[in-house]
Amino acid sequence: MPLPAALNDADLEFKCLECDRAFVRKGSWFKVISTFRCEGCGAANRIGYTDKLALFEKHSALLLIMEPTANGGPTVHRWGDVG
Ligand SMILES: [Zn+2]
Repeated sequence: MPLPAALNDADLEFKCLECDRAFVRKGSWFKVISTFRCEGCGAANRIGYTDKLALFEKHSALLLIMEPTANGGPTVHRWGDVG
C-alpha cells in the first residue's frame, strides 16, 4: 500500500519515542526520511514503513472527518440498511 500523495502537504505529528516531544513535519518529509534526531533529547528515532503508514492513516481519517461531503454524498454506508 503506497503512502497517500494527498498528505504530501499536510502537517503530520510524530512524537519522540524517548521524551514524547511532538514534532510537526510535512507528509512529503516523512516519506523520504527513515530516521531523525530529536531536537529535545537528541535521541535518534527510527521511523519505519509501518510507522509511516500508521501516521498517514491516522491523518487520513482526520481528513475524511473534516471533508465528509466532498462528493455530495455520505461517506459512511451501513451495510445493515441494504435491502
Ligand atoms: Zn526526544
